[in-house]
Amino acid sequence: MPFQELINNASEKLAKADRLVVLTGAGVSAESGIATFRDAMQGLWAKFNPEELASPSGFRRDPKLVWEWYEERRSNVARNRPNPAHYALAELEKIFLSSNRKFTLVTQNVDGFHMQAGSNNVLELHGNIVKNRCFREDRLLSDAEIERETVPPKCKHCGSYVRPGVVWFGENLPQDTLSEAFEKAEKADYCLVIGTSGLVQPAASIPVVARQSGAFVVEINSLESAITPISHIFLQGKAGETLPQIVTEIKKY
Ligand code: NAD
Repeated sequence: MPFQELINNASEKLAKADRLVVLTGAGVSAESGIATFRDAMQGLWAKFNPEELASPSGFRRDPKLVWEWYEERRSNVARNRPNPAHYALAELEKIFLSSNRKFTLVTQNVDGFHMQAGSNNVLELHGNIVKNRCFREDRLLSDAEIERETVPPKCKHCGSYVRPGVVWFGENLPQDTLSEAFEKAEKADYCLVIGTSGLVQPAASIPVVARQSGAFVVEINSLESAITPISHIFLQGKAGETLPQIVTEIKKY
């Protein structure tokens, strides 16, 4: 089927949907200049195994290395901006809410770009890279609670190292956020999945649960992914180009 026809079909269904759940992954920020997980492990960091950098044991083994890796990623996020895909999702939220329909945005991304683009109520499954937490006590720390004389800096309360506010390999996801995401997936009648390889659990099960509960599943990805086989419509393309087209289409209904 021609691409435009697929867009029209996906948009027509979306215009009639009542309860939308959107799941985004690293691909939605690729056009903002943020490396996807696979890309992030290239170049300078190619010699490290992800679990060595993004895990509590990796941080214990070499806190300076892990902190510096995250500092580099943080400055990349600070240098860059949301792209048309983020803005299109913020607009979609407004369209849904203004017509009293349910809209939930679940993201695996840690860059905060959905909020910067104007999305409200974002369920951040993997935390936020800009935030800081105490490695020992796990609580969120404000700048005033951080002593910056060492690398990594230290928590002023207990003297433990500060860590980035993201979920690492081997750690539990924030329980309330995760439960809410699955609850919304079970009730959804439409699930839009964008720029995720569908390999990281439990996030990858969200579209599966939505589909099993009767939702219409549409995927946007530049390549086929583990989600493609369960999608009713696969829109192969860039998120920053495809999502604005869908938003333009649904405004016609
Ligand atoms: P992933 O890197 O495993 O997969 C990215 C997917 O996006 C791929 O399927 C790829 O084909 C697709 N893609 C790439 N460019 C695209 C584009 N322009 N438009 C549409 N699709 C595009 O990402 P994941 O599935 O989110 O899982 C990786 C993990 O790494 C997640 O846990 C996430 O928290 C973390 N991560 C986050 C960021 C971020 O916050 N921006 C960046 C890298 C990794």
